[in-house]
Amino acid sequence: MHRPRVLFAASEIFPFAKTGGLADVAYSLPRAMRAYADIEAIMPLYASIDRKRYGIEPLGDPFWIGMGERRFRVRIFGCKYGGVLYRFVYESALCDRPYLYGPPGEGYDDNAIRFGLFCRAIVRYAVRGAFDLLHLNDWQTALAALYLSEEKPETAAVFTIHNLAYQGVFDASQRAPLGLEDRHFTMDGVEFYGGISFMKAGIRWSGRVTTVSPTYASEILTPEFGCGLEGFLRYHRDKLSGILNGIDEKQFSPQRDRALAASYDSPRGKRPNKAAYLREAGLPGTEEKPLFIFIGRFAAQKGLDLLIEALPRIVQLPCNVAILGEGESRYRSRLSVLASQHENLHLALGYDEELSHRMYAAADFLLMPSLFEPCGLNQMIAMRYGTLPVVRRTGGLADTVADVGGTETPVCGRGFCFGEKDADALVGTVQRAVRFFGRDDRYMETAAHDMACDFSWNASAKKYAELYRETITGER
Ligand code: ADP
Repeated sequence: MHRPRVLFAASEIFPFAKTGGLADVAYSLPRAMRAYADIEAIMPLYASIDRKRYGIEPLGDPFWIGMGERRFRVRIFGCKYGGVLYRFVYESALCDRPYLYGPPGEGYDDNAIRFGLFCRAIVRYAVRGAFDLLHLNDWQTALAALYLSEEKPETAAVFTIHNLAYQGVFDASQRAPLGLEDRHFTMDGVEFYGGISFMKAGIRWSGRVTTVSPTYASEILTPEFGCGLEGFLRYHRDKLSGILNGIDEKQFSPQRDRALAASYDSPRGKRPNKAAYLREAGLPGTEEKPLFIFIGRFAAQKGLDLLIEALPRIVQLPCNVAILGEGESRYRSRLSVLASQHENLHLALGYDEELSHRMYAAADFLLMPSLFEPCGLNQMIAMRYGTLPVVRRTGGLADTVADVGGTETPVCGRGFCFGEKDADALVGTVQRAVRFFGRDDRYMETAAHDMACDFSWNASAKKYAELYRETITGER
């Protein structure tokens, strides 16, 4: 087969716009796929994107897209960045907003129209550009699979679920503007408890469906993780598979990371970074005390309830804890109270890419007690920086971290794992990590092992290439 022409669509791509791991994957996966496909990536041209900085220019004339009674003036823009061609969809209602999806914890009222329009524009661009395959990511792009099947069914579609908990469910009143007919609005179509589910369209009308780790691919077939779609997914299980995310090894590299106080290529080289960070954060004691970090969204998914319940006991141990994140206010305020009570607990609120790199380099352990985790990038980034992950054994965490005390052959990384969803288990695992830190040689050996693990896209990009080929040729 010739090199396929692939259009990769996502609602956020680093460095243009990022609210979470999707943006990292949407940056690094297309880069890795260049070895196998002629690939372009497409996303909305949000107002926050600096057009000058990236040389983003209009491509061709504006055109109109009808959504029910309304017509929207859409224009495609483009640039080349880091060797990848990016395409941007501009339309005012989609792009000129302070947030991508809505204020923290909320969605904009017109998100169905905004992202329905984005999906129409993706398909319009794909059809005009004679692409062989559309690779769609998460609910914001999912309706494009349905639209494509109507406009050009011979074009293949792959749909990747990065997080099943966000499904894009909207009121049935949006059917007309979205162009959803009776035959689409059924239980085996987009209908979901009387509403419209974008996610279901992606699953139903794509030739293949993937999630971002093999364990999560099997977990979502169960009621605990299926978010109400477990039956639907089981029905489509023949086309479902899990392909583990990778991380971009240049973006996350302790050898060449300019955000660090000192670059390093072995765990002992972390020391100056730890000293610098302890000073920066005003944390007490020396580098002899283990430093635990948490970086991520303050959301139930990330195990914030467990963490907050466990923290008063964790901070009694001989260690420092530093937390960086933003998210739900109930978690923010409880963490702020705890940080004001304990001098060895530091809290940084907000989103700060460079600070996160300094923290990965400084820390000895990363806390990741997620209730569920489609893949998780933090643990892979941490291991690359020689920081041992302390994780709940679920989803991608189970696929990337094996317990230092276990007998199983490590899939790749080593760290500390627990299974129970309770604070006692987390505290016990942290105690184990603190003791392990005291055994310097073993700690250093394990950290060196983790730094040497291959968390690149090499293996997974090959799997996607094979999946693209099978989807285009209709093979299984
Ligand atoms: P998510 O479920 O949020 O997508 P992932 O583990 O897949 O979680 O990816 C999270 C990504 O966002 C990682 O690159 C992580 O380092 C980064 N990140 C999360 N929160 C912050 C923050 N407050 N500041 C800087 N980086 C962050």
